[in-house]
Amino acid sequence: MAMLAKVKGRLRRLLERPASVELTKYEALLPKIADREDKIASLSDEELTEKVGKLRGSERELADDELVEYCALAREAAKRALNERPYDVQLLGVMGMLAGHVVQMATGEGKTLAGALTAAGFAVRGKRVHVISVNDYLAKRDAEWMRPVYELLGVSVGYVGEKVSTEHRRGAYESEVCYGSVSEIGFDLLRDRLVTSADDQVQTPHPAAVALVDEADSVLVDEAKVPLVMAGTAEGVERDADMAEVVRRLRAGVHYEEDEDGRNAWLTPSGAKAVEKALGGVDLYAEDSPYLAAVNVALHAHALLERDVDYIVRDNKVQLINTARGRIAALQRWPDGLQAAVEAKEAVAATESGEVLDSITVQALIARYPKVAGMTGTAVAVAEQLREFYKLEVAVIAPNKPCVREDELTRLFTTDDAKEDALINEIVKTHETGRPILVGTLDVAESERVAKRLGENDLECVVLNAKNDAEEAAIVAEAGAFNAITVSTQMAGRGTDIRLGGHDEADHDKVAELGGLYVIGTGHYPSSRLDDQLRGRAGRQGDPGGSVFFSSMEDEQLTQYAPEVQLHVLKEPPGEDGLIKDKTARAFVAHAQRVAEGVELEIHRNTWRYTRLIEQQRDIIMEHRDKILHSDVADKLFEKHAPERHAELVEELGADLVAEAARQILLYHLDRRWVDHLGYTADVRETVHLRALAKETPIDEFHRAVVPEFNKIVPEAHDTAVDSFDTVKIGANGAELEEAGLKRPTSTWTYMVYDNPWDSDAEQALKKVRAHVKKVKAER
Ligand code: ADP
Ligand code: MG
Repeated sequence: MAMLAKVKGRLRRLLERPASVELTKYEALLPKIADREDKIASLSDEELTEKVGKLRGSERELADDELVEYCALAREAAKRALNERPYDVQLLGVMGMLAGHVVQMATGEGKTLAGALTAAGFAVRGKRVHVISVNDYLAKRDAEWMRPVYELLGVSVGYVGEKVSTEHRRGAYESEVCYGSVSEIGFDLLRDRLVTSADDQVQTPHPAAVALVDEADSVLVDEAKVPLVMAGTAEGVERDADMAEVVRRLRAGVHYEEDEDGRNAWLTPSGAKAVEKALGGVDLYAEDSPYLAAVNVALHAHALLERDVDYIVRDNKVQLINTARGRIAALQRWPDGLQAAVEAKEAVAATESGEVLDSITVQALIARYPKVAGMTGTAVAVAEQLREFYKLEVAVIAPNKPCVREDELTRLFTTDDAKEDALINEIVKTHETGRPILVGTLDVAESERVAKRLGENDLECVVLNAKNDAEEAAIVAEAGAFNAITVSTQMAGRGTDIRLGGHDEADHDKVAELGGLYVIGTGHYPSSRLDDQLRGRAGRQGDPGGSVFFSSMEDEQLTQYAPEVQLHVLKEPPGEDGLIKDKTARAFVAHAQRVAEGVELEIHRNTWRYTRLIEQQRDIIMEHRDKILHSDVADKLFEKHAPERHAELVEELGADLVAEAARQILLYHLDRRWVDHLGYTADVRETVHLRALAKETPIDEFHRAVVPEFNKIVPEAHDTAVDSFDTVKIGANGAELEEAGLKRPTSTWTYMVYDNPWDSDAEQALKKVRAHVKKVKAER
């Protein structure tokens, strides 16, 4: 019997973790680590730190005996600094991450501590570590929380965030371990690439840098294709109130059409005629027509972006809502034309216009690190992607205490209304017992709707959205309190521990008796992994807990990705409350989610295909730029190509001043050409599927168009720079570039593009799905 159970257990483990690596080798080290415990406990703090220092001096990965020594010391340091003795599973996580894996550890297992011990382990071997957190709040929280541990281990630590000063920032990057959100670290990289004096850079380049990514799946997969953008003021982008007016009068289905998923909209022939007429008889499709781009962007703003879903208007300003996180992103704007178009649509004052100076995707940012490791509660589901895009393997770590959470089957309803009624009933019924409830919604609008309906039932709840991370963390920490009802989007409050009975666990036993935290999803997320993240908020460290998802045949995911469901004849009629028990219908719910996952993956792949080329080009330009910044190549260039002028100026102003002026001139022209190139590639990319002939794939066409233009950048920048060197006034204040009309942006800002409206590849990837949808419709 025992044998059979063992085999069964092993089989189950195999099935449960198809894509993970074994950590048996490290499991074997755990008893040895425990053996060292008493001896190490007798060391003084200084001796402990000193012992860790003995592991320094080599850049080799820690060998097994060194690993044992390090883990034993690290455990002791945590015990002393935090009064928390790292569990075996945490040390297993540490060893898995030191080996360069992504470890899967459930919510509440103590990844913050495991991550810190890992980062310090890398640091003692001479690596510079960036611990990438989900947001600024968590970066600061974790760095400060773990600081005493780092101190005992003799490792320096810092953090960066949107609000920290340049000095603090530079100091943080000089530390051996630096915590920061992916956007902040990425934006610093972008800013560093645009400085005109080497002294202004904040990041310390390090050949042996490690990225240790918390919530690794959301950063490496969900946000991988998100471009971090740096923009600067520019003249020229005009807000087009007239166009907004013209487009406002167009009718959906007659003048324009949208695709099923709301990612694209286009004019019909009759729409095009209407626009041409409204604009006074222009030809929209004439070569070099200035109207086509303007009407497209206005149409996008009009038809696809919905007020209060995609953005809100507050203080007479358009502010984006990041739908995945249900948060208003203060620093985020859309690409410029679109921002202006939405501002025109809402008739609010135009913000300063600008152009993209540089950008980098999250994936390319991470790819810059020679070594990457990570941790998250949900990694196995994306194991293939982690391997394909990052060459990372997943290692599954068992929970410290078995999870006893009860996950119910999805409750499927005929209509949205029926679903929402049932949802509210379930909340009301559960709340009567005092059991805490966490409702996970798909977006902010839904959160508000649920809150309103609960209010109508005299139930109070806390809604998490569009607030700041620190406040959200404080609220979510109370989600497990007796009687609590918390409504939140998927991302809100991530990284915060939910303890039963409130953050002080005052009512722990009472709440545990009621079944622990009850998590209710109002609809399935685009992947089962995101569902699991929500579920994971309950049942931490062996706590009781429960979870259930509600869904309806009208859910967007279902109508979009499993339209067959509409045609399906139910074998058993739905209950009076609209509850569907039919097995096939329910299977469609899971199917729709799998299709959605596939679409996301295709989009990711496709985006990467395009961005990879630009990333390579950027690396080449940046290498050149660095040389200009740190050496005298600019000076040499002008000495060679404008020798008379050069000699004259050196005579007049001295060699140093001339060399600096030369540097500024060449940097200006190189940056200018790069910005133009980015604009050009964006244009090509937007239209490439129109341009590509049947014979060529869009990506080939893209390469064909972009590579020759790239090859011109450096020679042309050199030529125009030599011209400038000859003509621009150069005096005691350096080169008077502005006077010559060669103006750098007066201000810059950064943003992330969550749903890239220019991402025409998305369309490509979705075509397959759409073809499928059309086919089904035709068969009806
Ligand atoms: P995760 O990121 O894995 O969800 P956290 O790092 O936020 O988990 O930790 C959850 C809670 O567990 C924290 O309150 C932390 O103090 C506690 N904790 C972590 N490790 C230990 C330990 N070894 N012993 C006791 N408590 C721990
Ligand atoms: Mg965490």
